[in-house]
Amino acid sequence: MRPVFRRADSEAFFRRARSKDPETFDRLMVSADVRESGDCWPWTRSTAGGYGKLRIGGPKQIAHRVMFALCFYPPGDLEVRHICHNPGCINPAHLRAGTHRDNMIDRMLAGRGGNLKGEANGRAKLTETDVRFIRRRSSAGASLLDLSREFGITKTAVSYVVRGKNWKHIKKEGA
Ligand SMILES: [Zn+2]
Repeated sequence: MRPVFRRADSEAFFRRARSKDPETFDRLMVSADVRESGDCWPWTRSTAGGYGKLRIGGPKQIAHRVMFALCFYPPGDLEVRHICHNPGCINPAHLRAGTHRDNMIDRMLAGRGGNLKGEANGRAKLTETDVRFIRRRSSAGASLLDLSREFGITKTAVSYVVRGKNWKHIKKEGA
């Protein structure tokens, strides 16, 4: 799957992420090969199973999850997956939170070439998994602002997704 452009590339975005924990943020940035906003940022230090690892005080943590938490929100029980399918990448624009099931669906779709209605359209910024995830997170109380930051789309676009104005071919889930 081709990585999708997201707004996680502005100075303001990274200033805000860094302000949460400057020391950790700087360690992440010097431990990866940070390139252009649309490129992968491969981890250059120790890895396990392809994932970047770093120790911040306590036990070792997974680098891309730490990056996600600083840039968006603590993922908690959610998995943080790579839309670039590059496990060592820590570019926040390539990271998406989701359930294990979302992750499996994404892999399955990637294996098939992701040739689906919405995604086949070159302008689509969201995958079908994203749409389901946004609807679930919204009904669980996530704000339009948080969702718009995470997915790099406007608040209006988020509300369209939530209200089912776009992506009508994806059925709303029961709960
Ligand atoms: Zn990447």
